[in-house]
Amino acid sequence: MATEKKEFKTEVQQLLDLVIHSLYSNKDIFLRELISNGSDAIDRLRFKALSDKELIKDDPEFRIKLHVDNEGKTLRIEDNGIGMTRDELEVNIGTIARSGTRQFMEELKKSKAADNPELIGQFGVGFYSAFMVADKVTLKTRSAGSDESWTWESSGDGSYELSDGDRDKRGTEITLHLNENSRDYIVEFRLRQIVKKYSDFVEYPILMDIIRDETPKDDEGKPKEGAEKQTTVTEETLNSMKAIWMRPKSEVKKEEYNEFYKHVSHDYTDPLRTIHYSAEGKIEFKALLYLPSKAPFDMFQQEGPKHGIHLYVKRIFIMDNCEALLPRYLRFAKGVVESNDLPLNVSREILQEDAIIKKIEKSVTTKILSELKSMMKKSGEDYLTFYREFGKVLKEGIEVDPTNKDKIKELLLFESSRTEPGKYVSLKEYTERMVLDQKEIYYITGTSRASVENSPHLEVFKKKEIEVLFMVEPVDEFILAGFGEYDEKKLKSIAQGDIDLGSEEEKKLADEQKKEASGKFKKLIKKVQDSLKDDVKEVRLSDRLTDSASCLVTDEGDMNPQMERIFAAMNQPMPETKRILELNPNHPVIETMNDLFTADKKDPKIADYSELLYDQALLTEGIAVKNPARFAQLISALMVQAK
Ligand code: ADP
Repeated sequence: MATEKKEFKTEVQQLLDLVIHSLYSNKDIFLRELISNGSDAIDRLRFKALSDKELIKDDPEFRIKLHVDNEGKTLRIEDNGIGMTRDELEVNIGTIARSGTRQFMEELKKSKAADNPELIGQFGVGFYSAFMVADKVTLKTRSAGSDESWTWESSGDGSYELSDGDRDKRGTEITLHLNENSRDYIVEFRLRQIVKKYSDFVEYPILMDIIRDETPKDDEGKPKEGAEKQTTVTEETLNSMKAIWMRPKSEVKKEEYNEFYKHVSHDYTDPLRTIHYSAEGKIEFKALLYLPSKAPFDMFQQEGPKHGIHLYVKRIFIMDNCEALLPRYLRFAKGVVESNDLPLNVSREILQEDAIIKKIEKSVTTKILSELKSMMKKSGEDYLTFYREFGKVLKEGIEVDPTNKDKIKELLLFESSRTEPGKYVSLKEYTERMVLDQKEIYYITGTSRASVENSPHLEVFKKKEIEVLFMVEPVDEFILAGFGEYDEKKLKSIAQGDIDLGSEEEKKLADEQKKEASGKFKKLIKKVQDSLKDDVKEVRLSDRLTDSASCLVTDEGDMNPQMERIFAAMNQPMPETKRILELNPNHPVIETMNDLFTADKKDPKIADYSELLYDQALLTEGIAVKNPARFAQLISALMVQAK
């Protein structure tokens, strides 16, 4: 094949520009990234070779090797892993195959990545970090079992070249033509230091030829007198290769845990929590789990984040992102689980059904939930960091994990009518500060805090100083359906059905007043209802309004508009449910309408005002009115009358 010149996909070039121009704060990490890729490639080959020994027969010793060329100022990182076919090369290097990339790059641009290197961390620049230190990168690769090899080369300036390669053995080698500011990456001491710091635990030897000019030694190890210096080359292993999760907890330093986290998660930021434990007894396994401090950009995509829990069996890597080890609502956790009780030839399908895996999943779930509980109790700030990033994911557990539902409820936080924006209340705190006579936990759903905090539905609750939880995330609607009770108290929407507040005496008084008002406004209400019959299910007097004239309420058992919107967004539109329009008997507008109605039952203003009351109720919920032009006309007409 002649050399083919190809353009990078736009998002790759954008990423490269960011890497080259903005990510200079810690260049050393390029080596960690490339070594990690090499180690991943060996992992994958080792697993494949379990069922196809031929693949590694000619070269069974897995390794990663660093080669330095002092003259050419290059550093080469070579692995004898699985390598890449031409197709794989084109997909993996040169495009970014992950969905959501474009959108993510837009966000990065907006938020000025230079000021936010941690944003890039969420994405993981991996291979492209090579361009932080190199003017030109040459990658040669040969897929295990294939007799073709390929060369890829780029200066990171918009295009790359692809040609036939001359690599005569399986694996990948990446040659970095070091840029002027990065020449020290050929210095032995620097490389030793970086490998020790970032990649010590890599399971395969990271080798390097150490060259010394030394005087030959005599039998006693002393330099031979008069002998000329000779150049010796010894291949040394730079890393200890100790699997970090197999080591006793007391011997692992925090930095080591953190570096290992970055290796398994492809994240750049330190984790929020590290959970390291071994289970002994009927089923034995070791787990090293991490709770990240930042959500990866693909957290909420259908396929979920790319890097999850790695599964090892008898020291052999089986798969990364082993979904069967974690319930989906804990998919933010990362790390490693190693078990000796599983067979080596497991597949994803088998794992889903495997009894041992189910037990490990149960244990891991319990461990993570109890870590979260203790974090919430002992270090609230950390818990808030966690909750802001992953609370939405955790909430899904209410719906899908009945066994742990009660534990998850304890971990939930909500903003409320008594918290400032960005501050939260737990259900425990809520119930502890409930007012006398309050029997239920009140909430309001909506699309944002702003859309609910001034809602007319809240009026009577504010007046009586009863706290109302703001449920403003789409997932809230789903968890509410199966939430059940908390501390024997039901959750009750303040925008649905009747509400029942206050002491027996207060209620008696309110009932009497309502009876009186009902008599007075009976005919007017009938009239309003007739004129709005296409839009509302019923018109009635309200217990919940103190200042506003009207509001809309969902009938008990009906679907609310937020839920309808969610279904519509999922392309499953539901027939629109009509709601109940409630009117405030103490509002002067109702009084005025009643006067007009008493004077002339056919006064057309009644129908117009009814429409306006309905439109107002929609607007206060942030819902668009059906006919904005007509709404504007009615308002203008009123303004003219006011002269
Ligand atoms: P990530 O490692 O986060 O997936 P990278 O940009 O570092 O992202 O690499 C992209 C892909 O290229 C990898 O997922 C892998 O499939 C492939 N790749 C990178 N380096 C190697 C290597 N040394 N051997 C085989 N495949 C590799």
